[in-house]
Amino acid sequence: MINFSNLVELISIAREKSLPIHEVVIAREMHISLRSREHIIKQMADSWMVMQESIERGLNNTEKSLSGLTGGDARRLRLYSSKAGAEAPYLGEAAILAAAAAVGVNEVNAVMGRIVACPTAGSCGIVPAALYAAKQRGASEEKLVLSLFTAAGIGMVIDQNASISGASGGCQAECGTAAAMAAGALVEIAGGGPEKVGEAVALSVKNLLGLVCDPVAGLVEVPCVKRNGFAVIEAMLAADMALSGIKSVIPVDEVIGAMDKIGRALPKSLRETSQGGLAVTPTARRIERELYGE
Ligand code: SF4
Repeated sequence: MINFSNLVELISIAREKSLPIHEVVIAREMHISLRSREHIIKQMADSWMVMQESIERGLNNTEKSLSGLTGGDARRLRLYSSKAGAEAPYLGEAAILAAAAAVGVNEVNAVMGRIVACPTAGSCGIVPAALYAAKQRGASEEKLVLSLFTAAGIGMVIDQNASISGASGGCQAECGTAAAMAAGALVEIAGGGPEKVGEAVALSVKNLLGLVCDPVAGLVEVPCVKRNGFAVIEAMLAADMALSGIKSVIPVDEVIGAMDKIGRALPKSLRETSQGGLAVTPTARRIERELYGE
């Protein structure tokens, strides 16, 4: 049976069998679930469809969440993305649209819309938005769906060796993992081999190490929604760095090991309890009073 417990093993299997990472992940899934390749790919294609629907809804969203804290920013960014001349976005239209898509999917989550938790609801915009960016520059549907298996394999490894839960590892575990999944998928879509996928994961995770989870008023809205926008840009840059040939000095599995240790070292107040960080600022406290009373 094909199995792997860390990124180096996953990359080695792919190299030995001359397969892309997504094929290794699909083979493992076929073995574990006893389902056919067609069935597994169809299920992933269905998830990609839901992701795209949530992007479409998010980019056009004008609905505020029940708390009133979020809603409408994805649309704002989308409209801004096409400005030209001196008003053109610094990062360029494609990157701003990707950020808008990530923010939008999270806004859809905040109004209880349908999203794919990838790996979690709080970080649900990052992977879809990265694939949306790849689609905008011509990636085929088949490539996009298959790249989701690469993303899944990366998420699985991080889950096994660190955490994908804000309550246990801080936001590095949620948005950090999602960015790593997105970065790896983007590398594969662009034709980068398994080693470059690993480099993108290492570069991406390193940049978000230590990111705390401090949701204002206990809601997955502030800072989560806008953070999804930042994280997809980070994922795109990590992919570009890896594709350019940049390597992480610290090997990818050691980076994930550091992520685990940092997550365990974070105080409880910075692990989704809303007892620290942004959640205890004067403004956050005022918001809490307004929402829930004294
Ligand atoms: S801040 Fe916490 S709740 Fe929000 S996305 Fe990050 S881990 Fe999830």
